[in-house]
Amino acid sequence: MSVSVRMVVRTGIVRDERYLEHKPGHMHPEHPNRLKAVYRMLDSSFPFGLMEIKPEPATLEQIELVHSPSYIKKVLKTADHGFTSLAPDTPASARTYLSAWLAVGGCLKALDALISGQCEACLSLVRPPGHHALQDRAGGFCIFNNIGITARYAINRYELQRILIIDWDIHHGNGLNDFFYEQKDVLYLSSHDTMLYPYTGDWEESGKGEGEGYTINIPIPRALKDRDFFHLYHEIVGAVTRAYNPQLVLVAAGFDAHYEDPVGRSKLSGQAFKWLAHLLLDLRADINHPPILLILEGGYNPRALASCVKEVLDAFKSDGTWERPSLEDVEQGDELVRKVRRIHGKHGVW
Ligand SMILES: [Zn+2]
Repeated sequence: MSVSVRMVVRTGIVRDERYLEHKPGHMHPEHPNRLKAVYRMLDSSFPFGLMEIKPEPATLEQIELVHSPSYIKKVLKTADHGFTSLAPDTPASARTYLSAWLAVGGCLKALDALISGQCEACLSLVRPPGHHALQDRAGGFCIFNNIGITARYAINRYELQRILIIDWDIHHGNGLNDFFYEQKDVLYLSSHDTMLYPYTGDWEESGKGEGEGYTINIPIPRALKDRDFFHLYHEIVGAVTRAYNPQLVLVAAGFDAHYEDPVGRSKLSGQAFKWLAHLLLDLRADINHPPILLILEGGYNPRALASCVKEVLDAFKSDGTWERPSLEDVEQGDELVRKVRRIHGKHGVW
């Protein structure tokens, strides 16, 4: 039982119409309609009470925190061309570079707002997404690694020493995994389906050198249900959070594990994300209230995506009372919990 006392958290939101200007094509899943649906939901369900953060483009120096100058130049070269390609699955339109620059800039501005105390939690509702972007390569619809840059920025600018990244997108965030694999100031925890792109993130990939044990990869089965998913997060993220005591929590908030998602092929519903949001806020209250920044990743059914974001925001705007799911009959979740503990027990990190 949690004894934490929660209050309504002051919540910020990053949104901007210029995120719609990245147009990868009518048939592409990462379509501007995703964000249009989310923004429409915000206007109808949350007309008041969210602090709006206006993004500015990131600086070159900030993007170079994770990306190589030659790759950044490659992205810039797509400017003003009708339709080019950064990777086979990641096309660019004339103003894609601007959306990508602003996606990073919006996340950094959200972090500034969190650290300065203007808000306690923030949702960065940006595109293109980022967790697959590598140092010198786009892929998986991602161009710049929004979260990777934000974590490095938090270390450099604010001298943070313990950043927890939780990646609940159904795809493995290979970019994040790689950037922080040998560091212990960033603990990366991801649950994902390894049968999907980019087919990485196996159990035994758990960090190296100083970072050994600070990468936690949890492959999950496609049929995993809401309560098993919640049980997994409750047990593992609960233990990790209490042991690691993060000064900042970043969430790679993808919603493509939803059962209506055309890409994720999984079985979760919106309530799983509501429970996760409540769980994070309860854990936050237990460990001295670190700021929480959720950054949008996947989610390719616009209607399902908007409703999942609403579930999360409802949790953030609530007074902290919520009905926890029953944890009877969660064998699949239990099996996962046991396996994570068995593999990570030897590292002694949590
Ligand atoms: Zn995804």
